[in-house]
Amino acid sequence: MRIDVFTLFPEMIEGYVDQSILGRASREHLLDVAAIDLRSGATDDRRTVDDTPFGGGAGMVLMAEPVIRAIEERESSHGKPGPLIALVPHGRRFDQAEAARLSALDGFSLLCGRYEGIDQRVLDGPVDDVLSIGDFVLAGGELAALVVIEAVARLCPGVLGNETSITEESFSSGLLEYPQWTKPAAFRGHEVPAILRSGDHGRIAHWRHVESLRRTIELRPDLIQARGGLTEQEQRDLEEHLRMESTGETG
Ligand code: SAH
Repeated sequence: MRIDVFTLFPEMIEGYVDQSILGRASREHLLDVAAIDLRSGATDDRRTVDDTPFGGGAGMVLMAEPVIRAIEERESSHGKPGPLIALVPHGRRFDQAEAARLSALDGFSLLCGRYEGIDQRVLDGPVDDVLSIGDFVLAGGELAALVVIEAVARLCPGVLGNETSITEESFSSGLLEYPQWTKPAAFRGHEVPAILRSGDHGRIAHWRHVESLRRTIELRPDLIQARGGLTEQEQRDLEEHLRMESTGETG
């Protein structure tokens, strides 16, 4: 997968992408992230990329010309990897479903804003889509771009060692993931639920599903609502689970 990132701070992108699973994916040529300096599109000696906003107000705005020139130059020398997505607070909310959609593409480009934002003519021009990573304001789009890159890349085949971890984890099924434990079985008086040490894979899978339901109901009732509530079977399973827990029959 090819990802071009347009930014005023290419080192921020490169530094992160070189590490951990993204670094390994890059070395194995599963992922090809290029960070392109928006200043490459500047036309004056001082490499100016920002100016004051029309209408007044605080701060500076990224100018249309240098940004669009940087994008056009990159696309004419390297081709366009896929849709150009700008990271902006007013964009569509990025989530796991969006990560899955992007992971099916051959590539895409990300545009990181800075200062008070980006001249609207860039968003109305070469930008194909706008994404936000949440209802808060960052100082720049770089962290948002890295969030998108990491969430998408780990869904690409071969990037994570263990593919089943993707299908079972939080949000992929509309539920949060069940709780996890590792060794030792007892730590400072807290024991791992006995069922997870039983070796009975069928019962373990069932127990985990019910724990997922329980955690999601407790912490993210909006996700339960979005999937249309619980089925009658799930409702019964959950009641039975809580009953057995209270009588000490499991876990
Ligand atoms: N004045 C703007 C905020 C600019 S923040 C406003 O009120 O909407 C500067 C840059 O940071 C933005 O251009 C964008 O690229 C990035 N950014 C800030 N918050 C973001 C978010 N929640 N999601 C994605 N990008 C964000």
